[in-house]
Amino acid sequence: MSLEGKVAVVTGGGRGIGRQVCLRLAREGAKIVIFDLEEDSSRKVVEEIESKGGEAFFIRVDVGELEQVDEAVKRVIDKFKRVDILINNAGITCDRLLLRMEEEDWDKVLKVNLKGAFNCLKAVAKPMVRQRWGRIINISSTVGLRGNAGQANYAASKAGIIGLTKSAAKELGRRGITVNAVAPGFIDTPMTRKLDERTKKEFISLIPLRRAGRADEVASLVAYLASDEASYITGEVIKVDGGMAM
Ligand code: NAP
Repeated sequence: MSLEGKVAVVTGGGRGIGRQVCLRLAREGAKIVIFDLEEDSSRKVVEEIESKGGEAFFIRVDVGELEQVDEAVKRVIDKFKRVDILINNAGITCDRLLLRMEEEDWDKVLKVNLKGAFNCLKAVAKPMVRQRWGRIINISSTVGLRGNAGQANYAASKAGIIGLTKSAAKELGRRGITVNAVAPGFIDTPMTRKLDERTKKEFISLIPLRRAGRADEVASLVAYLASDEASYITGEVIKVDGGMAM
């Protein structure tokens, strides 16, 4: 799965799934650019990659802000003259039952999870079209496939990611760019660690493998989809969920 010489942008790469994706792509030889809000955690990921002989840098970007994304992608192109891989991973939750959900809860989540993915995809698509090669991997969720009480905003954003993935796959395929979505189930990260113990136990009881997934297990699939090995796979939504949503 060599990614030697490839340049990969990973949004939300400072912790959780994004961090493991950065470490895994770097291990395969990719140069990593982290787009994230949190400087301290992202710098630690950069240092970890550098300590193993890899190359990485961090740009503070709010993916929901198109101008910031455009500026950051311009910096990537100025430095490396190319961008090969985009992992749209940055995501947030703001859970509330529908009747209590405020407009701002909806807007906040859609802005990061869906508009953020669109902003980054749009910004990298041009250089990728010029290169005639690209890999775009959008992190959706099993919640986007099945819905979840208390997560209408999050589920809508993650279902939207699937529509975005398939449309982009159809538009960009003839330029040598594949676009796929990965739908994790219940993965042990800072996002899920904030759930109460009862909710976590309920989730785990629904998983045939009877445990939460690890972020590196999601990263393995992402690395595969980013590689030449996956050259004939596009427009797919692949679950990494221990069988939870089958
Ligand atoms: P996480 O631990 O909360 O990490 C999310 C990362 O995204 C953080 O580094 C965060 O930075 C960054 N981020 C948030 N808003 C951003 C913005 N506007 N611009 C740039 N970066 C931003 O979450 P995770 O569990 O690793 O989740 C990663 C992705 O997988 C998300 O899209 C999530 O929806 C999806 N997913 C997770 C699970 C799961 O069980 N964990 C399941 C299905 C799907 P800050 O530290 O600054 O907030």
